[in-house]
Amino acid sequence: MKTYTVSLPSYTIGEDAYKSIPEVCKFYGKNAVVIGGKIAMQKTHDFLLKGVENSQINITDFIWYGGDASYANGDKLINDERVKNADMLFVVGGGRACDCGKYVADVLEKPVFTFPTVASNCASVTQICVMYNEDGSFCNYYYPKKLANHAFINSAVIADSPEKLLWAGIGDALSKECEVIFSSKYADLFHTTLMGRQMSRICTSPLLTYGKKALDDIKAKKPSFELDQVTLDIIISTGIVSNLTTTADDYYYNSSIAHMVYNGTTVTKNAHNHLHGEVVSLGVLCLLTFDKNFEERDKIMKFNASVGLPVCFGDIEVEQSDFEAIAEKATKTTEWAHRAPEANITKETLIACMKETDECGKKFKKENA
Ligand SMILES: [Zn+2]
Repeated sequence: MKTYTVSLPSYTIGEDAYKSIPEVCKFYGKNAVVIGGKIAMQKTHDFLLKGVENSQINITDFIWYGGDASYANGDKLINDERVKNADMLFVVGGGRACDCGKYVADVLEKPVFTFPTVASNCASVTQICVMYNEDGSFCNYYYPKKLANHAFINSAVIADSPEKLLWAGIGDALSKECEVIFSSKYADLFHTTLMGRQMSRICTSPLLTYGKKALDDIKAKKPSFELDQVTLDIIISTGIVSNLTTTADDYYYNSSIAHMVYNGTTVTKNAHNHLHGEVVSLGVLCLLTFDKNFEERDKIMKFNASVGLPVCFGDIEVEQSDFEAIAEKATKTTEWAHRAPEANITKETLIACMKETDECGKKFKKENA
């Protein structure tokens, strides 16, 4: 059997999360440089300085990361004396800032600590960087050699982030459990992937239980138990599952039909008006329809309707006449390449399940209007 290493995320969450910085970081040196988004650095500036107050950790500078996770922005930081001279990097912001910072830290072989400022994705704890070209288009995946050393999730900072991003984050996280369970159904799993599949089973229910209250609280900019539960679900649970079910070239159980539907809709005229997680949450209904898991589908459909996530394709401005093009685009995705032969996913069956879901969602809306 070949030798391998698995790293699991470590993290702190709470309104005083940044006060744990000295205890966690003191083993890695003294001087930390902050790199991140402009608004993110503004919002965290005082919290960070308070966090390291009267400790041996010294924040040497705050540097804007450049606005996107591109190799050009990353390389600029790699060559910046202030970054080179730091013992460790503090990366502050959303997914793109985290991915850019993880890339920089990997090349410089420095410890990196993440400070997510939105709860919309798991980039602060994953071992993958989604890299973009300078024109904003997708470039490739970069796989750093290790995870961030620790993530500090400040509940007050999250509560002050845009409600819309949490809302879409919930939509995306709704896909984790059903996609992993579905895509690994026919596979022979070993220890790592078994852990990933088992962890995926705790991804859906907290969203259904706490999602509505968390959205009310973020609207009021109020940290709460429910908001923390949803934040942990979106950042930590889905992040761990991603790490345990994804490899660069070996196995991939991290996503399936819900993301095929999302990727497919990128070729339609209007779906780009809708956020990734918003479209994925409709893809979740398609997957559960495909899998004939109607009880779960109806439960999630009800939840989606209660928080304004889509239940039919009209909600994301897509027509049934687009399904052919969506299915064609789906055949070009990673998810398609990794689909199990036993699952019988073809263009025809994919179109049929989108139709069935659409009809079901329309009926639901009529009955609940
Ligand atoms: Zn997604």
